[in-house]
Amino acid sequence: MKFDIQPAASPVSEADRTAKLKDPGFGRVFTDHMSVIRYSQAQQGWHSPRVEARSSFQMDPAAAVLHYAQEIFEGLKAYKRDDGGVNLFRPDANARRFRNSADRMAMAQLPEALFIEAVEQLIRIDRAWMPGGEGSLYLRPFMIANEVFLGVKPSAEYIFAVIASPVGSYFKGGPAPVTIWVSENYTRAAPGGTGAVKNGGNYAASLRAQAEAIENKCDQVVFLDAAERRYVEELGGMNVFFVFDDGSLLTPPLGTILPGVTRDSIITLAKDAGTKVREEPYTIDQWRADAASGKLKESFACGTAAVVSPIGKVKSTKGEFTIGGGVAGPVAMGLRKKLVDIQYGRAPDPHGWIRKVF
Ligand SMILES: *Cc1c(COP(=O)(O)O)cnc(C)c1O
Repeated sequence: MKFDIQPAASPVSEADRTAKLKDPGFGRVFTDHMSVIRYSQAQQGWHSPRVEARSSFQMDPAAAVLHYAQEIFEGLKAYKRDDGGVNLFRPDANARRFRNSADRMAMAQLPEALFIEAVEQLIRIDRAWMPGGEGSLYLRPFMIANEVFLGVKPSAEYIFAVIASPVGSYFKGGPAPVTIWVSENYTRAAPGGTGAVKNGGNYAASLRAQAEAIENKCDQVVFLDAAERRYVEELGGMNVFFVFDDGSLLTPPLGTILPGVTRDSIITLAKDAGTKVREEPYTIDQWRADAASGKLKESFACGTAAVVSPIGKVKSTKGEFTIGGGVAGPVAMGLRKKLVDIQYGRAPDPHGWIRKVF
């Protein structure tokens, strides 16, 4: 399939772009273009791949996504190398996960090669928007159901699109440890549910819990399992790791949690270094006890946006506990550096994770 490339008629001026790139923050600044591929069950399946000026979608008020939330998304980043080239980090993993998400939500599955090409075409045309330094270009592929029909059934029509947002370093002056709130009133994922796929509905359902975290002066929420309300699962949008005094790592097993690309990469890098990594259930009571006894040295969250985010303190209605003195630990920071160095092309890439766009 050949992309029809239609450059924007009135792109942002160079001066305005430079101003926007000074301090872009996260998810507020967007590039000039978007990639779009449409799907129609009745006609030709996936068709009309385009790169065009970023603009609004025209949508019927009865479009399925507006009523029954048939929507999935991905998040990945492009990084500028010192030689001026651009790296994508494991886009094949995102393309695969996107297919799995589509399958779970009864949506059309986009071929992985088309997913990656849509991302790369957008990076090529919007190359001028690539931030330098510790910044990156955040890519947001997503798909919505746009059949005009109020019956409850899988849509016969979809829009797949990719937009791009230049982002600064997530943390200015290095990652500060976060305080997290244990959600006792809400869960995010039940066995058989949609917790393991990246669909917007999961986020909608997590917002009330996140608001509760903010009300309790915490940065983020951590969810427990829905069945027993004992096992630590993950944050609203990040996976979680525990570091013990024998140097080993533990992270909750796959199942109801989102299988993070960062989680998988950290497991691989830790094992490369000879670290023992267990993927096992871990209860909130054990977490509290291990933090108190000193058996637990560090905890950290991880995901594409923040890479690695140390957890300094955990709060709940039962009180609070501090981990490793509440400061960023050496294991979390070491893994973070290893990963970031591979992403920016400053370190060898033994697992073939980097795809050079330029
Ligand atoms: C996206 C996401 C993550 C992190 O996944 P990465 O592939 O590492 O970015 C973790 N948890 C949830 C709920 C997510 O949506």
